[in-house]
Amino acid sequence: MNTPETTFGALEKARALLSNPTPLHQDCGHLCGASCCRGEGAENRGGMLLYPGEETLYVPLPEGFAITRDTSVMPEGRLLTCRGSCFRGDRPLACRLFPLAVFLEEGGEPTLALDPRAWPVCPLMPSGMDGLSPEFVGAAAEAAQVLAGAPGTREFLIRQTAHIRWLHRPLWESGAVS
Ligand code: SF4
Ligand code: SF4
Repeated sequence: MNTPETTFGALEKARALLSNPTPLHQDCGHLCGASCCRGEGAENRGGMLLYPGEETLYVPLPEGFAITRDTSVMPEGRLLTCRGSCFRGDRPLACRLFPLAVFLEEGGEPTLALDPRAWPVCPLMPSGMDGLSPEFVGAAAEAAQVLAGAPGTREFLIRQTAHIRWLHRPLWESGAVS
């Protein structure tokens, strides 16, 4: 594995890998009215977790964006919210990867898979990974390796994996039903 020296280096490389490839060869937002960009509430604010150090790329904050604290995955986590449209270069890494996610267990290798959190919004989910552009999947797989090779992003992926698994744990598991 080609290990970047720093967490920020890994983040920048992953963002660059996914700056052009998109899930389909056409703009998939036309299929669904960009439903993954539509948030809730009067201000239509969606939110996505930033990777470690990514908030420094949002200074100054582009118009319509806001950053708030979010401890769901990391104690020092940051949530970027938007108004449902943005310039391509401003997309955070989580949006560049969507509807994929990188899964990583402690001591393991990263795995790329459909993000179960995408099921309620993304019409590409039923077609599976085979329905996505090979260029997009390839770039995401390369980004996954890069992110898993730097300490900060690796820890983020491990914690995010645990969080996603917890969110989507079977309902019959102990404690899931009150
Ligand atoms: S919800 Fe899925 S199909 Fe729609 S814009 Fe987002 S990634 Fe593309
Ligand atoms: S940051 Fe951009 S790509 Fe991400 S949800 Fe908001 S509008 Fe969509």
